Amino acid sequence: MKRVLLAGGGHAHVHVLQAAAREPFAGAALTLVTPFARQMYSGMLPGFVAGHYRVEQCAIPLPGLAAAAHVELIEGRITALDAAQRQATLADGRVLPYDLLSLDTGPVMDRDIIPGARENALFLRPVEHFVQLYERVLEQAARRALDVAVVGGGAGGFELALALAWRLQRLGTGSRVSLVAGAAGPLSTFVPAVRRHAMAALRRARVTVLPFACVEIGSGFVRLDNGARLACDVPLLAIGTQAPPWLAGSGLALDDRGFVATGPTLQSRSHPEVFAAGDVASRTDAPHPKSGVHAVRAGPPLALNLRRAVGGGELMPHMPQHRTLYLLATGGRHAIASWGKLAAAGGWVWHWKDRIDRGFVQRYTLTSGGS
Ligand SMILES: Cc1cc2nc3c(=O)[nH]c(=O)nc-3n(C[C@H](O)[C@H](O)[C@H](O)COP(=O)(O)OP(=O)(O)OC[C@H]3O[C@@H](n4cnc5c(N)ncnc54)[C@H](O)[C@@H]3O)c2cc1C
Repeated sequence: MKRVLLAGGGHAHVHVLQAAAREPFAGAALTLVTPFARQMYSGMLPGFVAGHYRVEQCAIPLPGLAAAAHVELIEGRITALDAAQRQATLADGRVLPYDLLSLDTGPVMDRDIIPGARENALFLRPVEHFVQLYERVLEQAARRALDVAVVGGGAGGFELALALAWRLQRLGTGSRVSLVAGAAGPLSTFVPAVRRHAMAALRRARVTVLPFACVEIGSGFVRLDNGARLACDVPLLAIGTQAPPWLAGSGLALDDRGFVATGPTLQSRSHPEVFAAGDVASRTDAPHPKSGVHAVRAGPPLALNLRRAVGGGELMPHMPQHRTLYLLATGGRHAIASWGKLAAAGGWVWHWKDRIDRGFVQRYTLTSGGS
């Protein structure tokens, strides 16, 4: 019996669980280790912040899905990995040996990336912690006006600034939201047509865009790289993510940012018995490496290759897409679509995104009732 360890209940592993529920992996005992009993679907996080969804609507419960798949669920967090010994160690000291390992733990956020952030800022990850702390922000904002600064001009920071503006304005206490977007401004990697829609949405929502970097976070303020000190009750960090530190000592081949170097079959470049998908993985063979392995799209090939690694058969290559469709929520029931050089915006884009997002969560939640 091969021991297959699924590390993290991320967006690719929910598909592996569903595949195992539909057709068991013959000759394998599967274990899932996850710190939380549910997987938050990040695509719906801005909608949760804006108040369009309750938290349960954005989460895939893992125990039911694991039970349907006959997968043992262990609540815990991996803190060390020894690829030579083929074992993972959890925060509570438990050691889990494996024959095959699949990593879908996502990235982490470095608490010390900006001086003062660890003590004073709200971090987006772990998402479960953010979700709990956000409830407290809402309680405070219902009592008095808050100055909120979202730090990070990428897609996540942009969507969250607009979602916060939408929600806080509806509380009627006069809270203000700013977006500290760095010198390049919001959505700097997107085409001009998308950026035009984005700037219009930020203006409509009265989000103040600050084209500076945040260099310090203190109690009640954030400091920018132009020297300005901005009053801020809630600094929310939506800046880049890092590789989990426990990968560094694992012995696995890593890319230059510390993410797992994988090839076309989603296997580790150094240890073929280790698979990785999602943000924790890096396709070092791809034309644009370091882009991660999109967790949702990697789910089906990962499930197939794990099954074949157990039972035999040729592993299939997974081709990353050249062009990605982005659907960016802009606070209210309105969104921007980005596809290559094309852009569109409107209520219909939001409804399109809403259908896709709800469909994703439902697809994996329904399975929890049985296979
Ligand atoms: C606001 C926002 C909106 C976004 N919207 C989109 C979008 O619309 N479309 C899109 O493609 N991307 C979107 N993203 C990006 C997206 O969040 C990531 O690309 C995606 O979450 C990656 O999925 P994953 O499975 O790799 O990791 P995750 O979603 O982070 O899942 C990892 C899982 O592993 C668990 N885990 C973590 N550490 C450990 C450990 N040490 N041991 C065991 N388990 C662990 C976690 O609890 C989690 O359940 C958005 C991001 C943000 C911030």
